Amino acid sequence: MSLDINKIRKDFPILSTEIYGKSLVYFDNGATTQKPQCVIDKIAEVYSTINANIHRGVHHLSQVATEQTEDARKIVQRFIHAQHSHEIIFTKGTTESINLVAHSFCRQFCKEGDEIIVSAMEHHSNIVPWQLQESITGVKLRVIPINDKGEIILDEFEKLISDKTKLVSITYVSNVMGVINPVEKVIEIAHKHNIPVLLDAAQAVQHIEINVQKLDCDFLVFSGHKIYGPTGTGVLYGKEELLNQMPPYQGGGEMIGKVSFAKTTFNELPFKFEAGTPNYVDYIALGTAIEYIESLGIANIKAYEDELLAYATKRLSDIDGLKIFGTSEHKSAVISFLVGNIHHYDMGMLLDKMGIAVRTGHHCAEPLMDVLGIEGTVRASFVFYNTHEEVDRLVEGIKRIVTMFG
Ligand code: PMP
Repeated sequence: MSLDINKIRKDFPILSTEIYGKSLVYFDNGATTQKPQCVIDKIAEVYSTINANIHRGVHHLSQVATEQTEDARKIVQRFIHAQHSHEIIFTKGTTESINLVAHSFCRQFCKEGDEIIVSAMEHHSNIVPWQLQESITGVKLRVIPINDKGEIILDEFEKLISDKTKLVSITYVSNVMGVINPVEKVIEIAHKHNIPVLLDAAQAVQHIEINVQKLDCDFLVFSGHKIYGPTGTGVLYGKEELLNQMPPYQGGGEMIGKVSFAKTTFNELPFKFEAGTPNYVDYIALGTAIEYIESLGIANIKAYEDELLAYATKRLSDIDGLKIFGTSEHKSAVISFLVGNIHHYDMGMLLDKMGIAVRTGHHCAEPLMDVLGIEGTVRASFVFYNTHEEVDRLVEGIKRIVTMFG
């Protein structure tokens, strides 16, 4: 089935906004995606009709709100094909999910001198949580290098593995280059050595069908706001046997079994990791966002975005002096580039004046910028509501800016 993009665009009210009198071209989807009306409506509907704190009340509203939150958990379970719904932990985003694992996994399984392997293209949120553990549990980071197409070098990865390695934590898709990592191979190699793997799917889950059981990843994390859901929502998937062995991340209400000053016992999964009143309204709306994606079909989304990526790559490559970072054949719809000596910030500011929203800078991946030998890039990231005409406007805009700079 091919997608009716004009019809789909009508589902996203913000897409009819004008910026400086020009119709908005939103190419900053890697940072956050826009929300369909059904998600916006769901948030208002929950507050207007069923709002009550969940898991605590005997009264009707609390029970309905609890049921809908648990339904949302089942929607996430179905979406990523997890075996059990209690393997889905709600968090406030990818960052919190990784911090949870870093804290809890390292406390349980790591000691001074143990190592966590990441790649050179990680977002800061898959670097810093592990570095924070250096001073707590004494773990050290090892880094898989990349080649000049922006791909991880698998042979080098295997060489990094030793009996000190406790976890591999790697991004599925680079938020800077759009390169899709060969995560199946990474998992196969790691598992040969009995090492678990965490996949940062923040830039993958909205573009690629995810089946955590087929992948056999041990943890998978993503943010709701990057898959058309509300901000302040995220997911940690973890295999039951690992999550069961890991200590709680935060203490408070809901995560306990029985509390006394002498001894506290903890709740079962998933609640052990969900301390305090959860962001249930937005989790319910995240379920709505996922149902919306499912109604379009993730395979249809991928086919359309791949075609748009190929078109944009071709048109951008034809611009004199434009260099794309990340030239792997395995890419999702993200293009990072620089043109001649034009500073990425100037390019972004001038495109903005034409109504075109792109991201500029280091994209929270400063170590990758060091590897690439640059300070930052201009990043255009596309999703299914973007069009070929919008790509044409980007190309024409860049050409005008190039002319301005002489
Ligand atoms: N990892 C990757 C690959 C990302 O792209 C992002 C967001 N840019 C994050 C982690 C962090 O996500 P959040 O800020 O939603 O926690």
